[in-house]
Amino acid sequence: MVIPREVKNILSVLQKAGFEAYIVGGCVRDFLLGIEPKDWDVTTNAKPEDVQKVFPDSFYENNFLTVGVKTADGIVEVTTYRLEAKYSDKRHPDAVKYAKTLEEDLSRRDFTINAMAMGLDKKVIDPFDGQANLKKKIIRTVGDANERFSEDALRMLRAVRFATTLSFEIEPKTAEAVKKNNVWIEAVSKERIRDEFVKMIMAPKAADGIELLRSLNLLKFILPELQENYGVSQNKHHVYDCYWHALKALEYTAKKKYNLHVRIAALLHDVGKPRSKTGEGKEATFYNHEMVGAKMAFQILNRLKFPNKDIEKIVTLIRYHMFYYNVDEVTESSVRRLIKNVGPENMEELMQVREADRIGSGVPKAEPYKLRHLKYIIEKVSKDPISVKMLKVNGNDLMELLKITPGPKIGQILDILLGHVLDDSKKNTKAFLEKEAIMLAGLPDKELKELAEKSKGEKEEVQSKEDSVVKSKYWVK
Ligand code: ATP
Ligand code: MG
Repeated sequence: MVIPREVKNILSVLQKAGFEAYIVGGCVRDFLLGIEPKDWDVTTNAKPEDVQKVFPDSFYENNFLTVGVKTADGIVEVTTYRLEAKYSDKRHPDAVKYAKTLEEDLSRRDFTINAMAMGLDKKVIDPFDGQANLKKKIIRTVGDANERFSEDALRMLRAVRFATTLSFEIEPKTAEAVKKNNVWIEAVSKERIRDEFVKMIMAPKAADGIELLRSLNLLKFILPELQENYGVSQNKHHVYDCYWHALKALEYTAKKKYNLHVRIAALLHDVGKPRSKTGEGKEATFYNHEMVGAKMAFQILNRLKFPNKDIEKIVTLIRYHMFYYNVDEVTESSVRRLIKNVGPENMEELMQVREADRIGSGVPKAEPYKLRHLKYIIEKVSKDPISVKMLKVNGNDLMELLKITPGPKIGQILDILLGHVLDDSKKNTKAFLEKEAIMLAGLPDKELKELAEKSKGEKEEVQSKEDSVVKSKYWVK
């Protein structure tokens, strides 16, 4: 492991200008662990204006004494030794002020393993036993844990995140302090919570991280809906309760190194089960749990301020995770409808969620053959039209052919035509579609509208028909 040349250069330029300069924080921790740091942070006694003088290619946006220095490898953050004044709101220091010494700067950092600095000579400045705690694999706050958590409540979640990403233990006093201060997590901005949550979910031990959140009484503030799953038993198709099933599914996606969308969808795929449960014991049912769950996931992810495109994708994966397939029973037309509803670009991830669900049940059924078969059908129908855009006639063609002006009628006819083509892709010919369009154009407005609605609604109907088949033969009885 070496410090990149560009970073070393920043240290030596600052030193030559008469200042102290060190790499600090997460990068020192990772360096000592032999992990490639994501970014290299520098700390110095030079004031921001001095740093800017020494590095003309730098910018200062006036936040927290950090100057961004542009290098060939990207931006390196150079921060002046600082202290944080009193926190009155558990999330922002009331002010930041200059610290005189490196030790003072290190003392404001969250955990001992994050409170080390290293100079060009590779000597480690470690006033809080960070190296010893790295060896012992321990997360411990710098100073009194209660004080540090009540200054900034996010640190509690960071403790869990580091325990998860590094496979460390949280030292007992620090863990006790998390339990004691847990409610303050509500004062923290959702964006900061989301960022730590994402890092946790992407760790190989993501599922252990969620359980750690629960055991420290933080889960109920961050994901109360998942907490609701704890202790809710399932039926004869499962060995785990709803909560543990979610964790097993997540664990599998982490083991397979699946992406963030698949991991979150796996964690939340059954989150609607407690609210849709009827009956108890072996015969309990969970009708429509995927619909309830999709709605809940939408609320959860919005609350955590995930970007809309992530939300949309994850919600879709949850909404359709119960898709039905059985060799010889599933028609190509129903697979086309599934692809239309899910989006071709999401099909692979949908299969991954399903796989995680199956493995996570603890009593996996022999589905791999069926899955392979479904993949084959998906491949086979992959070039078939599944949207109005893919029809051999478009709106302009219809307006010309039927001598009508733009309006709802065109859209209605296209929806009906798509319905035919989803049923039978051979019908996607100009001749057939034009003949059909002429016939449709002659219908009374009311009838056309009804037909179009039926054709659009059919996809939902097919889906719920399949759902009820699932219910009678599959996991949910
Ligand atoms: P990562 O590898 O995820 O970037 P990191 O330790 O570098 O982990 P950052 O959020 O990049 O985490 O923060 C850099 C450093 O700033 C930390 O190592 C720590 O010393 C300090 N720090 C960050 N957040 C806090 C906080 N909330 N309270 C105190 N110190 C913090
Ligand atoms: Mg960092």
